[in-house]
Amino acid sequence: MAKGFNVLFVTSEVFPYSKTGGLADVSNSLPQALNSLGNDVRIISPKYGQLDERRLQIHEIKRLKELKIDVNGKDAKFSIKSSFIHGKNTKAQMYLLESNDYFKNKGIYQNSKTKKDFSNNDERYLFFCKAVIEILEILQWKPDVIHCNDWQTGLIPAFIKTIYKNNPYLNDIKTVFTIHNLAYQGNFPKTSFEKTGMPDSVLTEKGGLHFGQFSYLKTGLNYADKISTVSQKYSEEIRTNKEYGCGLEDVLNGRKKDIMGILNGIDYSIWNPTVDKLIPYRYTYQEVPLKYENKRELLEKYKIEYDEDIPLIGVISRLVDQKGFDLIEKIIPQLMKEDVKLIILGIGEEKYHKFLKKIEKKYSSKLAVHIGFDEELAHHIEAASDMFLMPSKYEPCGLNQMYSLKYGTVPIVRNTGGLSDTIIDYRKPKGNGFLFDKYDPNDLMKAIKSALVLFKDKNKWNKLVREGMSLDFSWKVSAQKYMKLYKEVSSK
Ligand code: ADP
Repeated sequence: MAKGFNVLFVTSEVFPYSKTGGLADVSNSLPQALNSLGNDVRIISPKYGQLDERRLQIHEIKRLKELKIDVNGKDAKFSIKSSFIHGKNTKAQMYLLESNDYFKNKGIYQNSKTKKDFSNNDERYLFFCKAVIEILEILQWKPDVIHCNDWQTGLIPAFIKTIYKNNPYLNDIKTVFTIHNLAYQGNFPKTSFEKTGMPDSVLTEKGGLHFGQFSYLKTGLNYADKISTVSQKYSEEIRTNKEYGCGLEDVLNGRKKDIMGILNGIDYSIWNPTVDKLIPYRYTYQEVPLKYENKRELLEKYKIEYDEDIPLIGVISRLVDQKGFDLIEKIIPQLMKEDVKLIILGIGEEKYHKFLKKIEKKYSSKLAVHIGFDEELAHHIEAASDMFLMPSKYEPCGLNQMYSLKYGTVPIVRNTGGLSDTIIDYRKPKGNGFLFDKYDPNDLMKAIKSALVLFKDKNKWNKLVREGMSLDFSWKVSAQKYMKLYKEVSSK
């Protein structure tokens, strides 16, 4: 076995501690997959106010209590607590950073009470980045690599290369920065930069200055030793297409040789109809008819008539422009004329809440809406639906289309990013789903109609279902690629 690496995996969300989207699932499963290859990957994340210490088995670490660092001239007090993420035969050490100053309130990026972004998100994640670095000496465990994820961790590479550059314990630690979504950039007024204590050279175009603002993401991209993103296709799109590059194309092109696209994997001990504890009826490849029992139960719950022969389309998503809800909005009247049922689970922008509530009323006999974040319902929808709809404008990787394949739920997706890398047109050899190219409601409707037509042909449909269920998107291959990345960065 190749030499294992010590890696500190820094992330703002980790399932089951905190979750708004795919980053939480990846932060849970990738470290475990890497550990099963002989690495020592430990995770660190904030301990947000809503976390239940007892339920999540979070414990104190005596020597990591009542620590403090300087943030913007003030003492910020914090403790590090310990927990473990467990799989069947895998586990990963989890450190949770507790701070009454920054992470006491309930909510991850938004305050759960006000439903608005925390007004001090700049300082919350500045504090997080700095604390992560400063605890390393106290921890007496030195990572070869700090693996940063998304803008919330973007200041770490720059800190290591500036204010800690003369610290012999820290200055040879390498950094990898993974982009899970380039559109979320952590852009703040220039005054936020003054709180970092970094030299002015960081607030330049070659550092974090981005259209007159201080960008945590751009800082990460410019200072990390290596960069990765979560699919091959997205890694190309963000460099070559302005719509995807979000103003960072030049930065990314400048770092082309340091960027790697690595597709996210799936944890099949969690997302797998054979073992899924959150669904009413578990089923294997040979027992697909049991899937219909899940469908029956879900539809009954929402008082929608069950008919095995009328397809159910599922949607589970953050309700934001990225996910194609403006297209869904445009096709709803036409779609509702078809022989089809639809269930949508999501939470996000108010305009989409309003839209969903409106259509729920209007089409209550064939459409169900659940506004909220509900892990159990997400699993049930995957198991119950015949088709899964994901018409994203852009999609760095996307996990739900891969979950869907495993549950025999045929994906209908836009041909972009990670969706392109995982879904093959049903007419092609090894086809597993339905794709449309242009971000256009008519093209989306055409793709759905093709699926509705094929659904009627039981033989062909079952073949498609089984093709998807037989695929393997586990971490096996991708975790090896991360090890290659760690190896490259360590020899830099
Ligand atoms: P993104 O990270 O852009 O939100 P992904 O497809 O990568 O999209 O991952 C989404 C993850 O979040 C999946 O695990 C999905 O089941 C989950 N998810 C999204 N919205 C909800 C919701 N409202 N309730 C429960 N789970 C959700």
